[in-house]
Amino acid sequence: MTSTLDSDTADKADRVGPKPMIEGKRNRATQIAVYIFILLPFAALVAAVPFAWGWGLGWTDIALAVFFFYFSGLGVTVGYHRLFTHGSFKAKRPLKIFLAIMGSFAVQGPPVTWVADHRRHHAFSDREGDPHSPWLFGTSPAALAKGFWHAHMGWMFDDSVTNKERFAPDLMADEDIMWVNRFFPLWTGLTLVLPAVLGGLVSWSWWGALTAFFWAGLVRISFLHHVTWSTNSICHMIGERPFASRDKAANFWPLAILSFGESWHNLHHADPTCARHGVQRGQIDTSARLIWVFEKLGWVTDVRWPSEARLAKLAAR
Ligand SMILES: [Zn+2]
Ligand SMILES: [Zn+2]
Repeated sequence: MTSTLDSDTADKADRVGPKPMIEGKRNRATQIAVYIFILLPFAALVAAVPFAWGWGLGWTDIALAVFFFYFSGLGVTVGYHRLFTHGSFKAKRPLKIFLAIMGSFAVQGPPVTWVADHRRHHAFSDREGDPHSPWLFGTSPAALAKGFWHAHMGWMFDDSVTNKERFAPDLMADEDIMWVNRFFPLWTGLTLVLPAVLGGLVSWSWWGALTAFFWAGLVRISFLHHVTWSTNSICHMIGERPFASRDKAANFWPLAILSFGESWHNLHHADPTCARHGVQRGQIDTSARLIWVFEKLGWVTDVRWPSEARLAKLAAR
């Protein structure tokens, strides 16, 4: 799933003038990899239900799955999303690199590809050009069912590649990010192998390695895939809209904890650079809490916290 990047990228990024939205098509190998790394973990998730009864699922598997779920999930929400896409805060260099690696562990594509797609989503949200809007096919029940499928996972099988030079020139100019980006196949390997190694060591058995690979590797990856994709599908269809945004983004509370606060999606589209998405009373936002901890530790600065005045201005009439 790595992207082929030109060596004269920096020159091109500096060039003025509008750049096309799509830079080209995925090559055959990348397209096949996308299918494998979406469908294989998904098959494991489906298989997990019958397997859970009477088949190897131990406390070690559960602990490892939870750990890697948080590790890779927060890498996406805090790193890929709030830092790299939206610049909600500034991170010290070691943390910046580590967050990019953590996000890569989610197997949602390398950071630059993810950010380019997501910035395109915000630029065209719920309009023509949005890579994953559920509203592009109409509002009849059949059109909405098709829209839901497209926004949730169908869009990823489209082989059009979002133009990274147009949507992520800043990241392409960042040597550290490009380094993490280049090694995406390595991070993908590690996110599957590390749970197996740890499970094998804890249980001191090949069986323990295999069950940890299954639960904390494959099942965890697919489960997190669906949580992330639910923000694109469900959170653009159902929920509360207390803030004014140009699109259909909504706050969907049942996913708040699993999505690390990303399901407070209405506020996010109303104020994309805000470091906290769950801004109202009782709205749990684990990602914002982690950013807060990083700030206390002095690892991040310039955090864009919400202010009362700004929220009042954003409140929908
Ligand atoms: Zn959105
Ligand atoms: Zn966003």
